[in-house]
Amino acid sequence: MTPQTATAKSTTSAADGLRYPIEMPPRPDEAIEIAPGIIWVRLTLPFRLNHVNIYLLADGDGWTVIDTGIGNEATIAAWTTLFDGPLKNFKITRLIVTHAHPDHVGLAGWIAERFGCRLWMSQVEYLQAAYHQHRGSEERRLAMRQFFHRHGMSEDITEALLGRGQDYLKRVSILPASYRRIANGDEISIGTRKFKVITGGGHALDQVMLYCEADNIFLSADQVLSKISPNVSVWAVEPDANALGEYLRSLASLSKILKDDVLVLPGHGVPFYGVKTRIKQLADHHEERCQLISEACADTPKTSAELVPVVFHKHVLDAHQTGFAAGELIAHVNYMLVERRLTQIMSPEGILRFKAV
Ligand SMILES: [Zn+2]
Repeated sequence: MTPQTATAKSTTSAADGLRYPIEMPPRPDEAIEIAPGIIWVRLTLPFRLNHVNIYLLADGDGWTVIDTGIGNEATIAAWTTLFDGPLKNFKITRLIVTHAHPDHVGLAGWIAERFGCRLWMSQVEYLQAAYHQHRGSEERRLAMRQFFHRHGMSEDITEALLGRGQDYLKRVSILPASYRRIANGDEISIGTRKFKVITGGGHALDQVMLYCEADNIFLSADQVLSKISPNVSVWAVEPDANALGEYLRSLASLSKILKDDVLVLPGHGVPFYGVKTRIKQLADHHEERCQLISEACADTPKTSAELVPVVFHKHVLDAHQTGFAAGELIAHVNYMLVERRLTQIMSPEGILRFKAV
């Protein structure tokens, strides 16, 4: 079986100027050719975000694969079904992993070993993936507890997050022991196409995106997604990080580099046109959250824990989700401190509160 070619059917969301050229994403045993020499497959994830997109790019005699899925038995089974079915006779000759999150890097070791191919990553993301593999020491857990205490979070939330975090980050196969570095501004040839490497922070530390200007195709990884807002969080390892500032800077730069009619191939969701519209929506979404924080801190200083329900008022959050919401909330607070829209006050008990400027 060869991969199906995408149908011409497309949906348009006229109200917001976004267009989705393919109505139905590939089923787990399907591969769709979405542009000449570019195959889209989709792997299942055991989270609320229930899938990750994988792209295979024709590369001479073989194929370059972008990202790998999470490192569990079910994903190995899914890949095996694909390699026995629509991807039969596909030889993977290069693996590019966009960033160190387990749903992207998880099976890097397995794929590199199965095909004897090399792993290409940005240096920071490779080192971050290596760091995650050895995470979980008592010292690191203590740092996380202190971080959340400072932001006024309860023990329950911290424990729930530590529990889930450990489990989540363990879902990776052993990372290949060596890699080839790619960096912002590099140009790499994949088959007949030339791709410019663009990296950006915010969602991950130095996430790799690939842009083929000649064919107007942009592999956006998780930086610009079609329907959901990528997670932008601050954690205990770098408590003062300005992740949101970096993310917004990356979006602004992408908006300058890319043409609005570029075909965007994201890490989750569906391919789409209308990147500048989408970038504006994402930036506006974060600005709305900043405004909610400003209003809530106008009169009385508030902790991050108190601000979570203000910003996430539309959601009912369990302890795990509250932990992740806290990471996102702190990213907004840190950004607003840098932008001088908030000031912080430390209580005698070591709890931070924020006041609008
Ligand atoms: Zn990610």
